[in-house]
Amino acid sequence: MNQPASSPRLEPCPACGRECSVAAAACPGCGHPIAAARPNERTAPDTLYSHILDQSSLKVGMCLTLLGLIKVVEGTKGISVFSDELLAINAVLFLVANMLTYHAIKLEDPQRRKKFGRLGDLFFTSALCMLVLICAVLAFELL
Ligand SMILES: [Zn+2]
Repeated sequence: MNQPASSPRLEPCPACGRECSVAAAACPGCGHPIAAARPNERTAPDTLYSHILDQSSLKVGMCLTLLGLIKVVEGTKGISVFSDELLAINAVLFLVANMLTYHAIKLEDPQRRKKFGRLGDLFFTSALCMLVLICAVLAFELL
């Protein structure tokens, strides 16, 4: 640690080599843009959140297909399992993650986009964790 924690990280300017803060938009010496050269959430919001958009819609379809199959098994075997209710809740969670992410991508304001993107990510991650739990419950119930 040769720098105090409060001082911003320095990076050489790609044009003139002068040390500039990584938070700076442009080099104070020559005016070369610095922030624009780095890919970040402001310049690439779609690539950050689009995987959630794709994956959550896939998972909704998967949950509903599995739910249908469980209902058929329940009907033919005359049994009742707990995992179908969990799957229905999980499908809703993935849908909410999908909606939040779609909204985030369409927002112009970077702050609000980040907020909705993170919220979508939180719902997506929670739904994924719940899917792991459902798989375990389903495996035990169908044994
Ligand atoms: Zn410079």
